[in-house]
Amino acid sequence: MKGVFPVEKFKGVQTPFYFYDTKVLRETLETINREAGLYPNFRVHYAIKSNANAKVLKEICQAGLGVDCVSGGEIKAAVAAGFAPEKIVYAGVGKSDWEINLGLDENIFCFNVESIPELEIINELAAAKGKVAQVCFRINPNVGAHTHANITTGLAENKFGIAMEDMETVINLAATLSNVNFIGLHFHIGSQILEMDDFVALSNRINELQDRLEAQGIKVQHINVGGGLGIDYQDPNGNPIPNFKDYFATYAQHLQLREGQLLHFELGRSVTGQCGSLITKTIYVKQGHHKQFCIVDAGMTDLIRPALYQAFHKVENISSDEPVETYDVVGPICESSDVFVKGFDLNKCHRGDLIALRSAGAYGEIMASSYNCRTLPVGYVTEDFD
Ligand SMILES: *Cc1c(COP(=O)(O)O)cnc(C)c1O
Repeated sequence: MKGVFPVEKFKGVQTPFYFYDTKVLRETLETINREAGLYPNFRVHYAIKSNANAKVLKEICQAGLGVDCVSGGEIKAAVAAGFAPEKIVYAGVGKSDWEINLGLDENIFCFNVESIPELEIINELAAAKGKVAQVCFRINPNVGAHTHANITTGLAENKFGIAMEDMETVINLAATLSNVNFIGLHFHIGSQILEMDDFVALSNRINELQDRLEAQGIKVQHINVGGGLGIDYQDPNGNPIPNFKDYFATYAQHLQLREGQLLHFELGRSVTGQCGSLITKTIYVKQGHHKQFCIVDAGMTDLIRPALYQAFHKVENISSDEPVETYDVVGPICESSDVFVKGFDLNKCHRGDLIALRSAGAYGEIMASSYNCRTLPVGYVTEDFD
């Protein structure tokens, strides 16, 4: 089964470009609000690093989600898109002074602090402005996630967060600093996680940590479990909406929230991944001796995930219904890793055919670069073709 695209209306549009299916995005957001809405203490933030296209952000903002930022630029993008500062959380191992100052000036909800030196600088910069910054500590829970090694973040060997052993030390330190207010714990174990057991493991670890803190009389108002819910890259048409029901239910069942505590989520890929496709044009079909290549005008500069993480994106020839043949689909960039997929069956390809690289809404357009002096791809939504 192939996706449904306004192929006729794509004619004459400069390729490659991103196409975001507004219907899929809205259904995704409605599902999130419905499933998270079953639990009154749940708060969902959108991890803006997965896609900061202004038209996409508008939909997400209208759906009422908060935002998770990992840079000053993202805070600016979130504010420009209309997100309320009191719904912005800000994580990152290397926050620069200007970025912290921006967060303070915007009165964002919370800094997710990843080290003692960072805590001290936030305190100092907040003092200079006569403000008190709300802080959560990002704790590295040493919980593995069954995903690609480059996108696990919660192991002791990763650069992220504060070690569990140091949790009380930083909390006690924060209590001595007058311009930071400790309000909660933050976690994020990785991305493209499809096994609910990984979220169970994180919940169990958080329960242990909460017991430990409670025994010392330390109260925590907010728990933030980050993001990470995966999407079905193999079958975007069969499974356009990620499994939010099980995701939220898993946390509701396993994470023991204390009285009055709020549980925050930071979802990126699962919000934007399935609504987006990279649309590219076949430039040449080249016959090799053992295989044939479909050479397209999009490359790793437009969608780097296959080259960076050996990620799979389903490829569809949306211009042809002829019997399938097997192709390596490759881009024009001067790098051997500029390959989207090898030995993949596509409806017979001809010069000029439009090819859709599916499930490309997250970590696609936002990661585009101008390597080889290429132009950045434009992102369109359904309404742009009405
Ligand atoms: C990347 C990131 C997320 C979002 O991860 P997804 O897998 O896209 O849901 C959430 N929180 C933090 C801190 C992140 O760095």
